[in-house]
This record gives sequence, C-alpha cells and structure tokens, in this order.
Amino acid sequence: MSNPVKAFDSTSNAVGLQCPKCGSSMVLKDGIYGKFYSCSRFPRCKGTRSYLKM
Ligand SMILES: [Zn+2]
Repeated sequence: MSNPVKAFDSTSNAVGLQCPKCGSSMVLKDGIYGKFYSCSRFPRCKGTRSYLKM
C-alpha cells in the first residue's frame, strides 16, 4: 500500500457541504480529535461540522 504524496491544497478537498454559519463550502480537515469539516473561510469563519453523521 502506498499513497501518492500530494501537495496540500485546502481547496482540493472541498466537499458538498455548506457552512452552517455563513453558507460557504466546507473542507475536510484532520484534527487531533479526528476528522471534521471546517468552513473554507476559516479563520474568518469558525463554522464546523462533525464528520460522520451518515
Ligand atoms: Zn462559514
């Protein structure tokens, strides 16, 4: 198993979710508590959503 190393691009992993605060698109982040969705306007907007609520 080898994963190709990609340059990090905060816009490349945009998901089809809207920020609950400002309505912008959200991006998937990997935080110390696990994955979560963060507003693409962060840090100007601190809207987040929990990952995995299928
Ligand atoms: Zn937002």
